[in-house]
Amino acid sequence: MASTVLLVEDESKIRNLVRSYLERAGLLVVSTGSGAEALTLHAEASPDLIVLDLGLPDIAGGTVAAEVRRTSATPILILTAKAGEADRIAGLELGADDYLTKPFSPRELVLRVQAILRRSGAADGDTTTSFGEGRVVIDVDRREVVVDDAVVELTPTEWTLLTALSASPGRVFSRFELINRIRGHEFDGYERTVDSHVKNLRRKIERDATNPQLVTTVVGVGYRFGLSRDPR
Ligand code: CA
Repeated sequence: MASTVLLVEDESKIRNLVRSYLERAGLLVVSTGSGAEALTLHAEASPDLIVLDLGLPDIAGGTVAAEVRRTSATPILILTAKAGEADRIAGLELGADDYLTKPFSPRELVLRVQAILRRSGAADGDTTTSFGEGRVVIDVDRREVVVDDAVVELTPTEWTLLTALSASPGRVFSRFELINRIRGHEFDGYERTVDSHVKNLRRKIERDATNPQLVTTVVGVGYRFGLSRDPR
């Protein structure tokens, strides 16, 4: 399954050029020149990555990035006309994963996009990501989790929780963020619901559910995935 890129750029010349390079690299591209439409498309198309121009006519790109980050961990590559170091840092603080200053080479953009997709485990081809020296292996295409060499059956909600957390090992997810992820499966999205799903998930994947190592609690905030991703 090809990865989907949401391309947000109001200059149609750049948008069309970048679009054709990404498509030639085998990626599916959804594009828009509007920040407001970008947020709708992000919710509807669930892209694997967003290429986001900071200078948009309706909503500032930074606001779009912050809004995306509020509800998801979708990787963001920022495009900007500003070249200063301070801007670079500000871009990364928005939660962006990478940053390109205009004018940029479309070929370099494709390489950066592919690198981010590989890191986030959404790249084409090998859909398997391994964690903790092979202790946990997640195959998103086969929708399969192997823990300590045994296949573990997860409910759709547990699967969503685990893949959301493990997409960014070490990153803390608030319960609210996790509710948004599992909302597709149920409607009683309360914080206690997240806790009970985590409890069930732990029973299935932890060696000792009373001393969890994979899905760890961050007191007062939420949860995070405790293993690091193995090199490919
Ligand atoms: Ca622009």
